[in-house]
Amino acid sequence: MHLILLGPPGGGKGTQAKILQDAYGLVQLSTGDMLRAAVASGSDIGRKAKAVMEAGQLVSDEIVIGIISDRIGESDCRNGFILDGFPRTVAQAEALDAMLTERGIKIDGAIEVRVPDGMIVERITGRFTCAKCGSGYHDKFQRPKVDGVCASCGGTEFSRRADDNAATVQSRLDAYHAQTAPILPYYEKKGVLQVVDGTLPIAEVTKRLKEIIEGAKRG
Ligand code: ADP
Ligand code: ADP
Ligand code: ZN
Repeated sequence: MHLILLGPPGGGKGTQAKILQDAYGLVQLSTGDMLRAAVASGSDIGRKAKAVMEAGQLVSDEIVIGIISDRIGESDCRNGFILDGFPRTVAQAEALDAMLTERGIKIDGAIEVRVPDGMIVERITGRFTCAKCGSGYHDKFQRPKVDGVCASCGGTEFSRRADDNAATVQSRLDAYHAQTAPILPYYEKKGVLQVVDGTLPIAEVTKRLKEIIEGAKRG
């Protein structure tokens, strides 16, 4: 199974990708996570990406295409993957096609998790993550069962992303509409685009995504 999750920043792609990863034994490939790891390690790529990410703009196609083409060649991707946050431009979508063709992989579905702009600031400014295991939470919509304790690993330290502030959200939404939304028709023309209502509660969105995956499995 090879899936692409599309949709705005804060729309719930990462949340759903993690759930589907565990449910179907797929690997979540998040270019955002990979870039944040590069920034944290202080690598060449990280130094180039840091300011661009903090400004809410897109990192260059060349960098992210390079990261993804290395990553999908690794052995854990053999059972299938969920792309989360890639592709984000038409050039990235075309480069992905070339990579997949070379490896004989076909995309089973490109799924847009649709959420209107008006809901995004609250989604993003309330987001936080367990510092130990990376589980995602939200101040209002997805609180840990016990306040201050990660439900997955018991960790008690949490972090918030440098770019998850109201000022940067608008730039990220602008980038989404100008550069990323144009890839929706690209996948529609290929006949693989599906839409789920991302305004529903997390479990409802998961249910719809699973229906799409089950449908794709039946072929
Ligand atoms: P993305 O990966 O698309 O940027 P996330 O999955 O990180 O988005 O979700 C952004 C924030 O919104 C997180 O704090 C998450 O807990 C919360 N969230 C995700 N999906 C939903 C949903 N369907 N309803 C309410 N909150 C959600
Ligand atoms: P979100 O979906 O919440 O915006 P991500 O973690 O996917 O967050 O991305 C965070 C930032 O990393 C983006 O704002 C952008 O600067 C950079 N980034 C991630 N993926 C890509 C990509 N495919 N192309 C260009 N920049 C990217
Ligand atoms: Zn944790």
